[in-house]
Amino acid sequence: MADVKKVIEMIHKIAEDIEEQKLYLTELDNVIGDGDHGINMARGFKAVLEVEPTFEGKDIGAILKTTGMKLVSTVGGSAGPLYGTAFMKAGALMNGKTEADINDFIGIMDAAIGGVQLRGKAVAGEKTMLDAMMPARDAIKAAVEAGDDAKTALAKGLKAAEDGVEYTKTIIATKGRASYLGERSLGHQDPGATSFTLMMKDVAELA
Ligand code: ADP
Ligand code: MG
Repeated sequence: MADVKKVIEMIHKIAEDIEEQKLYLTELDNVIGDGDHGINMARGFKAVLEVEPTFEGKDIGAILKTTGMKLVSTVGGSAGPLYGTAFMKAGALMNGKTEADINDFIGIMDAAIGGVQLRGKAVAGEKTMLDAMMPARDAIKAAVEAGDDAKTALAKGLKAAEDGVEYTKTIIATKGRASYLGERSLGHQDPGATSFTLMMKDVAELA
């Protein structure tokens, strides 16, 4: 599914897309949060792009770990520690590996979700990034179990993440800043679920 070169390409594309969608992500956060999600994420991935030259010759684990550490140290708000921990946990799993297949990617998703939950203590249905991450992971797992190839499984994962974003419109936030709004968070999509879906799209397209 991806060698080191491909993983670097994916991270690069994610950084470009986050920068491109910065205002959109921030507008979503304006409605149910404090309007900084896009700015936070763009700052973090800009810092990741700055260390991209150091990825040369490293394994996938080291690259994911460095990405996570950069996100933790440069992204303000909740998303930095949450995504940062997700990438760092995925990095620990991929330590020493120079190839990732679809089963590795399921492991990466499990580790990333575990990292987000370790930091944020949220579960499914609280209107967070997990409501896109968990369905994506579950759909990919189900697709692989049903015999789909990697590309098909990832496409199903992306669709599940997109459906997850739509689902966040229908639920009340009980974690993060949006939870301060209570019922007024209804009808609005979660910014973090949206930024995850952007990342998932890049992985699905480039794999
Ligand atoms: P902040 O809320 O500190 O301003 P951001 O705006 O960058 O940080 O990120 C907000 C996003 O973080 C939310 O849209 C949600 O997806 C995610 N989030 C917030 N709290 C949690 C949590 N406890 N668990 C998982 N995700 C969370
Ligand atoms: Mg915010």
